[in-house]
Amino acid sequence: TPLLQTPLSLYDQTPLPYERQLAKLAQVRAKLGRQDLTLAEKVLFTHVADVEALSTAPGTYLQLFPDRVAMQDATAQMAVLQFINSGLPQTAVPATVHCDHLIDAKCGAQPDMEAAKRTNAEVYDFLSTAARKYGMGFWGPGSGIIHQIVLENYAFPGGMIIGTDSHTPTLAVLVCSRMIAVGVGGADAVDVLAGFEWELPLPKICGVHLTGRLQGWASPKDLILHLAKLLTVKGGTGYVLEYYGEGVETLSATGMATICNMGAEVGATCSLFPYTASMRRYLAATGRSSIAAAADQVADQLLRADANAHYAKVIELDLATVPAYLNGPHSPDRGNAVATMKAACAANNWPTKLSVGLIGSCTNSSYEDLTRAVSVIRQARAHGITQAKAHFYISPGSERIRATIERDGLLREFTEFGGVVLANACGPCIGQWKRQDVEEMKQLNCIVTSFNRNFEKRNDGCPNTLAFVASPEMVTAMAIAGQVTFDPTTDTLEDAHTHAPFQLACPQGQELPATFELGDTSLYQGPIPTAERAAVQFNINPASARLQLLVPFQPYPQEAYREALVLIKAQGKCTTDHISPAGPWLTYRGHLNNIAQNMLSAAKGVDVQVGATQNALTKTKVNLLKNHLTGQFQEVWQVAKAYQEAHRGWVVVGDENYGEGSSREHAALEPRLLGCVAVVVRSFARIHEGNLKKQGVLPLTFANPADYDRLQADDKVTLRGVEHLTPETQIVLVCTHANGTVDEIPVRHTLNATQIAWINAGSALTLIAAEQAA
Ligand code: SF4
Repeated sequence: TPLLQTPLSLYDQTPLPYERQLAKLAQVRAKLGRQDLTLAEKVLFTHVADVEALSTAPGTYLQLFPDRVAMQDATAQMAVLQFINSGLPQTAVPATVHCDHLIDAKCGAQPDMEAAKRTNAEVYDFLSTAARKYGMGFWGPGSGIIHQIVLENYAFPGGMIIGTDSHTPTLAVLVCSRMIAVGVGGADAVDVLAGFEWELPLPKICGVHLTGRLQGWASPKDLILHLAKLLTVKGGTGYVLEYYGEGVETLSATGMATICNMGAEVGATCSLFPYTASMRRYLAATGRSSIAAAADQVADQLLRADANAHYAKVIELDLATVPAYLNGPHSPDRGNAVATMKAACAANNWPTKLSVGLIGSCTNSSYEDLTRAVSVIRQARAHGITQAKAHFYISPGSERIRATIERDGLLREFTEFGGVVLANACGPCIGQWKRQDVEEMKQLNCIVTSFNRNFEKRNDGCPNTLAFVASPEMVTAMAIAGQVTFDPTTDTLEDAHTHAPFQLACPQGQELPATFELGDTSLYQGPIPTAERAAVQFNINPASARLQLLVPFQPYPQEAYREALVLIKAQGKCTTDHISPAGPWLTYRGHLNNIAQNMLSAAKGVDVQVGATQNALTKTKVNLLKNHLTGQFQEVWQVAKAYQEAHRGWVVVGDENYGEGSSREHAALEPRLLGCVAVVVRSFARIHEGNLKKQGVLPLTFANPADYDRLQADDKVTLRGVEHLTPETQIVLVCTHANGTVDEIPVRHTLNATQIAWINAGSALTLIAAEQAA
């Protein structure tokens, strides 16, 4: 049948799994007795390992078999190093590696690419070799950003992909419809690559009912910025956001991808859209008409929610009411309608001058995005304005996009207007940015990006920078005006010839090009024949500062859980950027001993003593802690190492949504390497909690969040109940304070039996290796 003959992608001859999914859906309906499934439930449940074991009871973990794995180069190093230890000859599912995170943005695409190839040669060689040895696709430096490439080449309606990057959900919804795409840590990826089930806490499904149509300057970006303001960075935690309603039909597939990408910003597991005509057009434009034809056949059964689908909660949104936004600074949920920015700047003493505008990235570099941005530039040029007042950068999401906008003249229009086109890579989005306007950085300054995340120091590492996010067309307009307060619906620019004021009209874009250019296809290296793989050898230099083979973690002795020291009591937001900062540390992603020196170096601790002064709860300082064994003040990792060498277990105490942000498992590996036995918080971000479990660290939450205040930074903590841990165990922290008094603080865990086995074995990887050996 056509369904069975349709390959999974242009690069994988494995057939689309629709026949299997249809059969499984029938089993699921019989098992659950339900005809009211959401789209998310259909996709999730048709990927479970065992339908007979399927349950929808609260607290259930789904055991899933995803269709493929995608890894970006920063996280792929550690994932591949772990996979090597599994001893398997090839990956169990199709997988790809993408070289996008390690390319510094400085002067422009060509010089930056040449520098990156020199600087990262060792890592690119390792990943390319690993791809050949284990049968993976390898997208080399310059090919583009992981999510954009997967969207263009691999995503299909109804599929399930996991990616070692928290913005993998870009593919979910966007990609053509309702693929479930979830950002995970490298440890989860290793499980799937090794053929093990991937475990996901059963998410709740939040319906987002869209009516109406976006108006004026409002774009899909503004829709998700609006939701971020509504839900906050943790409001989507534990949920899949499933969009539906007639408003969905008004959105382009790439616009939906932007919305799905930034579902990560509200903590959502992923986001989904039903299969639409725009998805069909996108598949066809990217050379996958056969997948669209197959999707058309199964759309009613597999790719749409049942008519009476039941959602845990529903958000009603009339698209016509969504204004244009500028969210920030420091958090993507700090929503400011553009029209309110003058008042916001005045109230907060933010500078109104815009120093740098940046567009593109995996979030917003579609053909539609860039044509809308160019339509704004054309209006300015028609009035004699020759360049933007702010510095202006463009990051194409892929070589395909770059080559297409070059062919169609858009690239030239950007550069003629003074824009600097950067490499097809993450660059400034992940702190790989050598900003050139150093004078601006010495004072409070504003940048606006069309990226997704704007945590403090994320883009340029500078504490003086206030970063905002907006649509590419709004970034462009503000860059032209040189002001973050510029509202194109009310404010005017000045004609360069007549000095008369004029107003920008709403941007106009083109959903898709007539055809896409592929550009430099040599940047992709496909899997080699199976027979040739065994001969492929790794060449890791033992003296390398960037790559290091891993030694599996061993279980902690029970003494480690008794009278454990509190390494740090983190206060407020503690993202994975605080736990394992990026920027220059990206260099060491494949060398655990070296990167561990950044551990918690950006976290704000409370109860820090500086010199002889006890500053109680009032003062915060980063990367300086008192070693409670010696009284010495040291960097966080040095204190941790000292405790480890003294054979003392230690814990981290954290606040709300601890570990939000990127999916990097280094944020769990580093504490594990240095002897962390538990992280105790008010609440966790999902991926980070899973990563801690995988590495053998107990993730615990206060049963009563107010107990955060009872646990002191100089306490000694005994974890009662850990010695015979079961899913039902009630763990109690017995905290001995410095004055000798004792508090008993109940905490909760979400470990199931499998995860407890990881803890008992030392880590999930240690358990897998033991099972392989057996
Ligand atoms: Fe790269 Fe930024 Fe996209 Fe992450 S969010 S994949 S760092 S462009």
